[in-house]
Amino acid sequence: MRPNSQALRSSHDTEREFGGALGALCIPISLPLTVLFLIGVSRTPEASVFQWPPPLPSTDQLWDPLAPVLLLGWIALHALLYVMPLGKVSEGLVLRDGTRLKYPINGFFGLCVSCVLLLLLLVLGAPLGSLFELLLPLAACAMAASFLLSVYLYARSFCVPAHALALGGNTGNHLYDFFIGRELNPRIGYFDLKYFCELRPGLIGWVVINLGMLMKEVELRGSPSLAMILVNSFQLLYVADALWNEEAVLTTMDIVHDGFGFMLVFGDLAWVPFTYGLQASFLVVHPQALSSLGAATIIALNGIGYYIFRKSNSQKNQFRRDPTHPSVARLETIATATGKRLLVSGWWGLVRHPNYLGDLLMALAWSLPCGFSHLLPYFYVVYFTVLLIHREARDERQCRAKYGLAWDSYCRRVPYRIFPYVY
Ligand code: NDP
Repeated sequence: MRPNSQALRSSHDTEREFGGALGALCIPISLPLTVLFLIGVSRTPEASVFQWPPPLPSTDQLWDPLAPVLLLGWIALHALLYVMPLGKVSEGLVLRDGTRLKYPINGFFGLCVSCVLLLLLLVLGAPLGSLFELLLPLAACAMAASFLLSVYLYARSFCVPAHALALGGNTGNHLYDFFIGRELNPRIGYFDLKYFCELRPGLIGWVVINLGMLMKEVELRGSPSLAMILVNSFQLLYVADALWNEEAVLTTMDIVHDGFGFMLVFGDLAWVPFTYGLQASFLVVHPQALSSLGAATIIALNGIGYYIFRKSNSQKNQFRRDPTHPSVARLETIATATGKRLLVSGWWGLVRHPNYLGDLLMALAWSLPCGFSHLLPYFYVVYFTVLLIHREARDERQCRAKYGLAWDSYCRRVPYRIFPYVY
């Protein structure tokens, strides 16, 4: 297909998401404040999300000259690992101009190198526990970097051809387009900015921050608590799994559909590393005793969640890659007018988003080691439930547009969206 103004024109009619222009104004202000608020609250003795006035940090607490050095060094390290010719190179889905982009599949290698470097630092006696004190300045730098990168992305999106723009990110409203992302796959040469940010500096950074919190606990109490070990292990498993299955990200909504703007940049570089690991920073100040039975129950819950999450994601990925593969060939499917088929048995016959169900069970297992005395460690479960319900609705809209009547009959066959017999 040639670059076409038809696609561009139709994008102006696209339904606006996240509350349209008002959301695009409020979210970039409220999210950074939320990150600072949550980190601030997690280290007060009360750790109450209802504290008033909210314990927002002073400007002194937000600045440390080491923070930008660490952040830029970290991003540079991962950029270097990204361009190293290691691992295979995969092609993304076909773009509107008929081409396919190439992506290096070496994120797991990036995680392994990071783990080796961290071990070396530990052996050399580096004070990794200082990440606890540096958390606010690091978060402030990551947020500043997110704003700068979003401005750069927005500016450069006016220099690319129309077919390189995301269909939903070219409404003509500057604020909304800046927020939702105008260019679909911004690249500097071979370096894909969206793909790089999606799973590397922020996601691996989250694991490093968690380890820093564990080391802080060791500094304070001589050894890590069982609760801290569980939180660190569960979240490391989640990150390792995402990077081991990195190729699957090439078919997700973020890569295929969404432009790269403030929403994704901020999510990848600031939101994920500084809010997903709140449980670990909470545990530094609010140690929790965990019984063996409690720990075993939580491990089982995480295991069940992980099993559902991994099996359902793998089943769909396998089916999309090769529907004749023996592991999926016998599953019941329905035809659609696009030529693609939809699974109506197996995991995808249980609910319409079994992968979200597994993800949510894991989210709960990450919070339970923090006990029941505070709401704060449950922030992630609550936020993630809202995110996945909203994401499910966005995906549903796109699938209905793609598959029409076939999608309706899938919904009749599989009436529940995420939770069997509930929702
Ligand atoms: P999904 O993996 O759920 O994919 C949705 C797509 O799958 C649909 O658009 C459709 O695409 C295809 N599909 C839907 N139903 C069927 C069916 N019955 N048969 C075959 N194909 C079907 O998308 P996400 O990107 O939302 O999620 C991927 C994973 O990432 C999930 O496990 C989710 O929990 C996780 N996630 C985690 C986040 C975090 O912050 N931790 C954030 C967001 C997601 P098509 O038909 O075109 O192939």
